[in-house]
Amino acid sequence: MAQIKLSNLRHSYRPDPQGDDDYALKKIDLTWKDGGAYALLGPSGCGKSTLLNIISGLLIPSEGQILFNDQDVTALPPAQRNIAQVFQFPVIYDTMTVYDNLAFPLRNRGRDEDVVKRRVTNIAEMLEVTEMLNVRASNLSPDNKQKISMGRGLVREDVNVVMFDEPLTVIDPHLKWKLRSKLKELHQRVKATMIYVTHDQTEALTFADQVVVMQDGEVVQIGTPVELFERPAHTFVGHFIGSPGMNILPCEVKGGAAFFGGEKIDLEGPAASAADGAAEVGIRPEFVSVSKEGKGLSARVRKVSDIGRHKVLEAMVNDSRIHAIIEGDVPNAGEAVTLDFKQSQTRLYQNGWLASLPEGGA
Ligand code: ADP
Ligand code: MG
Repeated sequence: MAQIKLSNLRHSYRPDPQGDDDYALKKIDLTWKDGGAYALLGPSGCGKSTLLNIISGLLIPSEGQILFNDQDVTALPPAQRNIAQVFQFPVIYDTMTVYDNLAFPLRNRGRDEDVVKRRVTNIAEMLEVTEMLNVRASNLSPDNKQKISMGRGLVREDVNVVMFDEPLTVIDPHLKWKLRSKLKELHQRVKATMIYVTHDQTEALTFADQVVVMQDGEVVQIGTPVELFERPAHTFVGHFIGSPGMNILPCEVKGGAAFFGGEKIDLEGPAASAADGAAEVGIRPEFVSVSKEGKGLSARVRKVSDIGRHKVLEAMVNDSRIHAIIEGDVPNAGEAVTLDFKQSQTRLYQNGWLASLPEGGA
């Protein structure tokens, strides 16, 4: 196992890249610690698979280095990097049995048959496929094929990293939840570095200790699920994570204070820079409280949606839509209400980036 470091990485699929727009990865500096459970999260097309393929060696980056425990592997082919990669769609040998499929990565490296047997039995148990071991892979359902694919990624005990590229795409929704928790459990048992790529925040947040959020070829934030929720470093993270995402409201900064529709908004702490001008206030729906006649911004209810555990209120303050998560008393559509933002959770963003300091912070 190893620490993996990406240094000054850039990648373009074009032969003669000009501006930043020609790069699928713009500039990546990133260290994956040995034994970590990571998710790489971002919308489709942001460069997640490109990044994985560079780590595995399927792609050589246009610029920069990949270091495994300080050894430069940038020029090494995949087979010499000692990694396991699980793809979006199952990669298995249809004519072989499940057992032989799982045994393949070990036999390929000349492991003794008793080691093979022990590892295969072990992995099959963890993935709950023991009763399928003698079945020919072509007879499996797509779900089970993908499970075996994942097993092939996990069966070796000597890999530097196991990487999963949106592995649950072909899995039935009701099984997804189960496999996701299974992977988390496997990480705790196997203790290998794992990188789990997904565009689905729920998958990322349940699997990972650290989530790397990407947008448009760049890393915008690395943090624990709690950190990403509580202090998004960028409005993109605030909006992308959460359900619904963070409210991002246009504001005007004057003399270090933020004004939204003429009303002063109390921020968590001082603005990091005193630059006056257009900015944004970020507040999560969880921290907006709604009352009939309390203090706060005057708003009109547009609708209330019941999403099971709680209700989501959508209200308008002038032209801005604000979501609030509410429990208990529910106002009706059309009613006038006031919205109050929890001050310690009210952030300022300038040019997309977090620009307020935490309460009392510097
Ligand atoms: P993700 O996995 O996050 O969906 P990708 O890494 O697949 O994103 O793609 C990043 C960008 O690179 C996209 O704009 C995509 O169109 C482009 N791209 C991906 N693979 C290739 C390729 N083989 N040739 C040219 N462009 C590619
Ligand atoms: Mg992809």
